[in-house]
Amino acid sequence: MLKRIVLWILSGALLCSAAPLPAQEPTRAEILRGEYGPWRANNDLLYYHLDIRVDPEKKFISGKNSIRFKMLKDGNRIQLDLVTTLNVDKILLGSTALKYERELNTVFVDFPETLKAGRTVTIDFYYSGQPQETGRFGGFTFKKDPAGHHWINSSCEGPGALVWWPNKDQWRDEVESMELSVSIPNNLVDVSNGKFVGKTDLKDGYTRWDWLIQYPINNYNVSVNIGNYTHFTDRIGDMTLDFYVLPENLEKARRQFAQAKGMHEAFEKYFGEYPFKKDGYKLIEAPYSGMEHQSAVTYGNHFANGYLERDWTGVGISPKFDFIIVHESAHEWFGNAVSAADVSDMWIHEGWGTYLEALYVEHVFGHNDALKYLSGYKSKVQNRTPIITQRGLHRTPPQDMYFKGALFLNTLRSVVNNDELWWKVIKEMFQHFKYQNIMTEDVVKFFNDKTAMNLTPIFDQYLRRTALPTLELTFEPGAVSYRWKADEPGFAMPVRVGSKDKWQLIQPTMEWKKMPTSLSKDALDVATDLYYVNVTKQ
Ligand SMILES: [Zn+2]
Repeated sequence: MLKRIVLWILSGALLCSAAPLPAQEPTRAEILRGEYGPWRANNDLLYYHLDIRVDPEKKFISGKNSIRFKMLKDGNRIQLDLVTTLNVDKILLGSTALKYERELNTVFVDFPETLKAGRTVTIDFYYSGQPQETGRFGGFTFKKDPAGHHWINSSCEGPGALVWWPNKDQWRDEVESMELSVSIPNNLVDVSNGKFVGKTDLKDGYTRWDWLIQYPINNYNVSVNIGNYTHFTDRIGDMTLDFYVLPENLEKARRQFAQAKGMHEAFEKYFGEYPFKKDGYKLIEAPYSGMEHQSAVTYGNHFANGYLERDWTGVGISPKFDFIIVHESAHEWFGNAVSAADVSDMWIHEGWGTYLEALYVEHVFGHNDALKYLSGYKSKVQNRTPIITQRGLHRTPPQDMYFKGALFLNTLRSVVNNDELWWKVIKEMFQHFKYQNIMTEDVVKFFNDKTAMNLTPIFDQYLRRTALPTLELTFEPGAVSYRWKADEPGFAMPVRVGSKDKWQLIQPTMEWKKMPTSLSKDALDVATDLYYVNVTKQ
């Protein structure tokens, strides 16, 4: 996903030199949702069948989620989530009504007898109500398109899937597959995740649309898009690309969505085959900027290049491509296939997603444009709190996870200093972790193993500390002394200094080192487009 930007543009420059922010006390809701407590950890999700009816006139949804899970430990309680404004109608185990207890958005479900470890259980969670709009993209919204047709969409990454359906709403555990059945008035179309299985006329003015998701999926990625959609297709090899837009935008979409092919080509080159091939790839018009809904990416970028028709990183590269097609689809690789196991490590989605924009630029327009594009992101970095936040709390990390995260990965490539190895490691990393939920430690270990370098202090300085490392340079006639100023003990990182066409690789540590140079204080440059660092000279 991409966060709201208007405020950022206004505040970015002002906040660059602002003081670090103190940590905020966690709320009960953040703990309940984010902590992987005993009643979450005692079971492993296998499967959901979410079967709902959406009434556009009453702005009402009702239905059930059949939740299948395997007990990992003996237990008689599990923890699920549903927003308090939606009603729990009943929760059944077979024909037995289960007791439950609600606390804020949490629903604790109790079983009359202990479920033994190893047992697979399916419960039917019936619910209904009017979803309330919440979050950046509304969570679940009942809107009208410009021609006056119903246009109903879900997009709920921040507030959570619990705003419109009951589920185990955390990041560590995902179902292995899912069915999604959406019943809507006959004249509307539903586009959801996965493979379209078919539609059934329910003979009461409603039609049920059935979708099958054949991969693990994050709860927040599950989506409905209900509207007066028209459909067209394109192909890449043996995979169909499906596009759904409002009829009045069909011609614009045919032109703009041609970029989806180049996006696939770029990311398949760097990381390997599109990870949700059996489910296909869809791009679906939505009334907000865009979201990475798995195999069903939503798009609201005005059928124009840049981001909402703006030059997103402000250096002339963004207007060459459609930001939303590239950024949101990049999440199919990082975010949806490789997923973080805790929202604290969301940079695995957004830092990588943003870095993939630069890889797309490199593939299509060349390395110089990619460096320029990335450097444009520096103005958006705040350095006020670390990118990785406290785990076990459901709290979205700071926006630095996008831009500083991407600039960090570009820095890491320079540290590895061997592009052949870099391309190999990032592809292997994706292949190794796809369809898994991982933490930063897994990424660090993988890079350390594959590069035979100790990159841990560098990862930690950029992701777990607030400030950038500063290269301190002190000049005297014919020589320069240099060292890193950083928070991470043992921080050491190679960096290129000298002049643009004649870089010299030096190995600063946190201890002063000295070398001869013929360059003056003003002439000696640091390759800050390759390494995202501060530099001081005296
Ligand atoms: Zn994103």
